[in-house]
Amino acid sequence: MPYRSESDSRRLLRRLRDTLAEAGAGQERLDRITHIIADSMATQVCSIYLFRDPDTLELCATEGLNADAVHKTRLKLGEGLVGRVARSTRPINTANAPAERGFRFMPETGEEVFTSFLGVPIQRLGERLGVLVVQSKDARKFSEDEVYALEVVAMVLAEMTELGAFVGDDPTLGQPHRHPVLLRGVCAQEGAAEGQVWLHEPRVVVTNMVNDDSAAEIARLHDAIETLRLSVDDLLRAAPATDTEHREVLQTYRMFAQSRGWIKRMEEDILRGLSAEAAVEKEQSAARARLEQVPDAYLRDRLHDLDDLSNRLLRILTGQGNDTGAEMPDRPVLVARNIGPGELLDYGRKLRGIVLEDGAVGSHATIVARALAIPLVINVPRITTEALNGDHIMVDGHEATVHLRPEDSIAGAFRDKIAMQAKAQERYADLRDQPAVARCGTRVALHMNAGLMADLPSLAGSGAEGVGLFRTELQFLIRNSVPRRSELAALYARVMDSAQGKRVAFRTLDIGSDKVMPYMKRPDEPNPAMGWRAIRVGLDKTGVLRMQLQALIRAAAGRALSLMFPLVAQMSEFEAAHAVLMRELDRERKLGHPLPERVEVGVMMETPSLAFAPRHFFEMVDFVSIGGNDLKQFFFAADRENELVRRRYDTLSTSFLGFLQQIVARCAEAGTPLSFCGEDAGRPVDALALAALGIGTLSMRPASIGPVKSLLRRTDLTQAAAVIAQTQERGLESARPALLDYVSRLE
Ligand code: PEP
Ligand code: MG
Repeated sequence: MPYRSESDSRRLLRRLRDTLAEAGAGQERLDRITHIIADSMATQVCSIYLFRDPDTLELCATEGLNADAVHKTRLKLGEGLVGRVARSTRPINTANAPAERGFRFMPETGEEVFTSFLGVPIQRLGERLGVLVVQSKDARKFSEDEVYALEVVAMVLAEMTELGAFVGDDPTLGQPHRHPVLLRGVCAQEGAAEGQVWLHEPRVVVTNMVNDDSAAEIARLHDAIETLRLSVDDLLRAAPATDTEHREVLQTYRMFAQSRGWIKRMEEDILRGLSAEAAVEKEQSAARARLEQVPDAYLRDRLHDLDDLSNRLLRILTGQGNDTGAEMPDRPVLVARNIGPGELLDYGRKLRGIVLEDGAVGSHATIVARALAIPLVINVPRITTEALNGDHIMVDGHEATVHLRPEDSIAGAFRDKIAMQAKAQERYADLRDQPAVARCGTRVALHMNAGLMADLPSLAGSGAEGVGLFRTELQFLIRNSVPRRSELAALYARVMDSAQGKRVAFRTLDIGSDKVMPYMKRPDEPNPAMGWRAIRVGLDKTGVLRMQLQALIRAAAGRALSLMFPLVAQMSEFEAAHAVLMRELDRERKLGHPLPERVEVGVMMETPSLAFAPRHFFEMVDFVSIGGNDLKQFFFAADRENELVRRRYDTLSTSFLGFLQQIVARCAEAGTPLSFCGEDAGRPVDALALAALGIGTLSMRPASIGPVKSLLRRTDLTQAAAVIAQTQERGLESARPALLDYVSRLE
């Protein structure tokens, strides 16, 4: 008798649950399950295929097919109908399987006599675990009701497989969360780390999959949704009116929390026999599967919102909070979908590495991870579903790879790599107190970039001569409201104290573009990197700039003060900013505050236009620091945040080097000190080229100082300059190959 109704479905789920509650070996149970499903669905065949590894499915149990084929029949992802279901995570329902595209005949199974085929994915929260198939001899297409019922069954199976309920002693059974996984992402902070997974937001574990009373379960779902709505309303009330982005997300949450479609689907799942939490998970899985296929960034964001909301709902239903009581491992590697800069700072240097499913190269969390020098890989697909708390994990920030539960051979090779890096670090440590003097006798000053108090210990450790760039915006980014002047003054004073007389070049606020403060109202801009940012904001709304300058002046109190203005595009902007500073100095003097011993006022050269400013400008500024990250993006018109183009143009292209030569010449002509503080200064061969062009000070991440110094000390800058000149004369596009060749020939 064909499968008919919701009550059949409920009966089937209960039979499954009871079977699973019984004792028995994994295989035996799996066999019994296929029998129950085939019996309830009135089909001759029911088979379970599970992933052996990410590319291979294995027939693990069957009712109706040849029993000898179990654990022998294997399919690649995408191969045959089963492989297609696994790859697309969509059901295939056909009355005539052999005629279906991609059908693969597997003689060992004896399946040729069964013409109708229905396969559904076994997946949990977007993680593919296998495929559940029913087949029968009569050529019929399964009804929508039957497809739905099989999906619900697959959902229950997924949860049980996940919990290891099927995993008996048979090592050949598919074991999610057991096999090694290699995942690739995008590099956000270099370095290698080994440790154990620490989930920032542990997954909610649903153990109760099947309900005994649908009406009571629907009432429980409604109660939970009501609680959810109220909590979203509370969040909305608490969110500042100016924080439009945050409010928009909350509005979307509210919209979803009231979505009739979403709630109705979950009610239907419950009527089929699922528990309320299983119903939430089923819809969440479906949304995640959709997420992988949606190319539109806006829609993907919305699906992410739904995902977050589902997690909240699950926490309400299960009573599980973020704190599961698990103890943080000794060498925690943080795994999260995303994380805020403040939360990251709370973890601090405890973390060995960070792996994010989302994230962006320019995000605040990335900035903090960089400041703390914690290896970080972002945009790592599936990491939050693949990883379990305590899993062994290895992160290679340089290659942007993540090895989860690595095999011994991989782990060994990885450790060799870490050991080599540690050895190199030791060599660099030996150089710490040596100057960066090239063979030709030229001395290059190596400074470090910083942005947090936490950076300052690196000043002594790295051997940096000073802080060439202190990014002041980090203090503004990691908090929920504008910091007070007194707080800033205290912080800047502590920074100067820890620098112990070494120069610290404070850059005034560079907000806008990718650095958006949660509490500041900003206009929507089509192109924020070229929009209202940095000194442009400072000059239009002088309040914050003035407050910051006052804090800097007070922090210096009797000491030398170095500051620079970001993204100045023309002389008059520098003059205007300089005038604001003069007024503040005057005001502080009148108020009786001690003034700095002297003030050095510089500028960041970040727009090509400034390189062509009148000579008077170069005479007026105390120093120029090239912000190579921005200068390069505007020189090549290639967005530094856009993965598609950000690596497209080379710093060592002869055109960019030629441009830098002009800046060097203009500063030399006016006798103005010149430095370079973009990321490229920390790449040894690039740093060599910059020094060879005559840039006397390079400012970089602390970890780069050793490698850069080590190379500079082995080179002759006149020779390197000659190599560059030759590539220019020969009309080559890039000086990199020639410079690499030069470096490879050094002793
Ligand atoms: C730069 O643009 O090179 C720079 C150092 O500033 P930031 O990276 O903070 O924009
Ligand atoms: Mg910049």
